[in-house]
Amino acid sequence: MLQQVNGHSSGSDAHGGESLREDLQEFLGGEAPLHQLDDLTKVNPVTLETEFAKGTSASVLRCLQARYMADTFYTSAGCTLVALNPFKPIPQLYSPELMQEYHAAPQPQKLKPHIFTVGEQTYRNVKSLMEPVNQSIVVSGESGAGKTWTSRCLMKFYAVVAASPTSWENHKIAERIEQRILNSNPVMEAFGNACTLRNNNSSRFGKFIQLQLNSLLVPRAQQMTGAAVQTYLLEKTRVACQASNERNFHIFYQICKGASADERLQWHLPEGAAFSWLPNPERTLEEDCFEVTREAMLHLGIDAPTQNNIFQALAGLLHLGNTRFADSGNEAQPCPLMDDAKCSVRTSASLLRLPEDPLLETLRIRTIRAGRQQQVFQKPCSRAECDTRRDCLAKLVYARLFDWLVSVINSSICADPGSWTTFIGLLDVYGFESFPTNSLEQLCINYANEKLQQHFVAHYLRAQQEEYTAEGLEWSTVSYQDNQTCLDLIEGSPVSICSLINEECRLNRPSSAAQLQTRIESTLAGSPCLGHDKLSREPSFIVVHYAGSVRYHTAGLVEKNKDPIPPELTRLLQQSQDPLLKVLFPADPEEKSQEEPSGQSRAPVLTVVSKFKASLEQLLQVLHSTTPHYIRCIKPNSQGQAQMFHQEEVLSQLEACGLVETIHISAAGFPIRVSHRNFLKRYELLRRLRPGAAPSPHGPPPDEGRSGWSPHSEQATLQALLQDILHTLPALAQAPAEAM
Ligand code: ADP
Ligand code: MG
Repeated sequence: MLQQVNGHSSGSDAHGGESLREDLQEFLGGEAPLHQLDDLTKVNPVTLETEFAKGTSASVLRCLQARYMADTFYTSAGCTLVALNPFKPIPQLYSPELMQEYHAAPQPQKLKPHIFTVGEQTYRNVKSLMEPVNQSIVVSGESGAGKTWTSRCLMKFYAVVAASPTSWENHKIAERIEQRILNSNPVMEAFGNACTLRNNNSSRFGKFIQLQLNSLLVPRAQQMTGAAVQTYLLEKTRVACQASNERNFHIFYQICKGASADERLQWHLPEGAAFSWLPNPERTLEEDCFEVTREAMLHLGIDAPTQNNIFQALAGLLHLGNTRFADSGNEAQPCPLMDDAKCSVRTSASLLRLPEDPLLETLRIRTIRAGRQQQVFQKPCSRAECDTRRDCLAKLVYARLFDWLVSVINSSICADPGSWTTFIGLLDVYGFESFPTNSLEQLCINYANEKLQQHFVAHYLRAQQEEYTAEGLEWSTVSYQDNQTCLDLIEGSPVSICSLINEECRLNRPSSAAQLQTRIESTLAGSPCLGHDKLSREPSFIVVHYAGSVRYHTAGLVEKNKDPIPPELTRLLQQSQDPLLKVLFPADPEEKSQEEPSGQSRAPVLTVVSKFKASLEQLLQVLHSTTPHYIRCIKPNSQGQAQMFHQEEVLSQLEACGLVETIHISAAGFPIRVSHRNFLKRYELLRRLRPGAAPSPHGPPPDEGRSGWSPHSEQATLQALLQDILHTLPALAQAPAEAM
């Protein structure tokens, strides 16, 4: 019963602007006589909340579409904010004035839904003197949906509202740290983002940024004193391998397009030079601005000589990419260089400050130690192996460079441990992925999404349960789809997909893709989340994720999980005379034997999956310690066009981000809430209109902050009022509108 009444009230609440008269007219304009509470839903104003209450994806879609076409991009749906990508610049929607409006509003949730509503809510929660709690905002959605844009806007919001307002001196300091934090974005995007088929500025890594706040300097206000960045799964293969019509990381294009004449000479980047690792250079994007990256790096304390060193090393990688080998035609002979590659390897060696001959030898010859005496054998690599080693070298340098940059950024923006008390975390991670071919990358990404969905559902249900208990409401357990079974399949013990793939790496035995498929299928056959595609010609297995089924190919899975780095490559890089490479590849303290393992005693292999799992667990621990908020970004069409809403594409994203699931959970409980106070304020009139109605036994609408107020006395008032309304409505239905 309450659910229905709530449903009506909240519809108006969501709009925030409707008058009581309009409200009553809506009551009376419906199908009179309204003496059944069930009938109330028939005259509910159509809002997303009421559409969500009906719980059908079609009605939610219709509502989102209508709002999108009316340039309303944000919609609140319970504890989630749905953000539709406008695909057009709307500066007034993110202006500092609007930020201040949300910041200053007595009840920001009464303003139109916006990311600033979430921003302000987290800011207020975290500064609450009663119970300061760390907050987190999980921004999810598929590539190009607007996650990074949203995170950036939220960071700008905090930079404005959490700036120190006290003295000029303080303000200057605050601005410096805020500016530095904002400057981390262009740097990380230059090195970690790339143009893909789905997004010109696609983040190729996951990011959690912890904005550190201090409540000590200014009582009752929070000041941003620093930030810490944690990154996940950089797609390092992109350095050496780009899909057709995609590009390498932006920074490579920036140096090639933005270098000065002197720098071109120094870095051997003549105008118009062709690099095989620099596809589609003719396309210029707004992200190609070298100056912005340099300026931001400078603000972060990366001085000009260090920058020069970084860009020179990157130019060295581009030249390395032009190093091509020919077949030797004889297994005992190393592969010769192609004619046009001789110069490339020399230039690359000089830019990376590596000795040229050892570089070439390392790329072409494998060193193996075997036997009791650990005898050293050298074996020329095949042409394909040479290519793999060359690519591996580039990936190794780039991944270390990226991690080093993150650590430099952190040391520049991180506050001293004693100078912050609380934090707001922003998580910008890749959404659920399902492509025609899925491999280890998709398995990790979807595993992360599965964990985040479990966290979301647990939090959502827990919050709901706590609220109902506090309100003294009786309710039956909400049934929802638990994704624990799927997580057990992926990461559970004693056996799971992850453990089986790790086992193959540990045993280091030759294992075909078909064998891995059989092992997974036979060992995990009992799981309802494991499927098999009989029509697939490639060895594969299917995982039934909460967001849909995904087929993973087993070919190359074990090798990717091992991510092997020939020790000779690391040793070679340790010989570099380049100051940056010396930092990235410090010499080993003790010259231990690092040759390829011969098969006997070996340290446990730290696989990609096990590293990812550990970092994911750490992230979830942090999230669990916070009050989470969710922003689900939706891409209205894959063409990136404004004012275009493709229902099917949106629906599949609603499913993939778990929103349809949320709607069902919502609908199973009380989907819409309105405070007792607002309800009484609004409908008290009905009681007074009833002929001969006595004054409310519980007095005027209470002030929620007043001492002595309890939800249970409110509950009693509400129930008395509902009884009154039930009796009054038939009479009211006959009354003339002027009577109100
Ligand atoms: P994701 O991080 O989810 O892959 P991005 O945040 O990079 O997606 O957004 C992709 C593109 O969409 C942006 O480069 C921008 O052009 C556009 N975009 C996203 N959100 C907005 C917005 N709120 N207003 C205007 N354009 C946006
Ligand atoms: Mg992004």
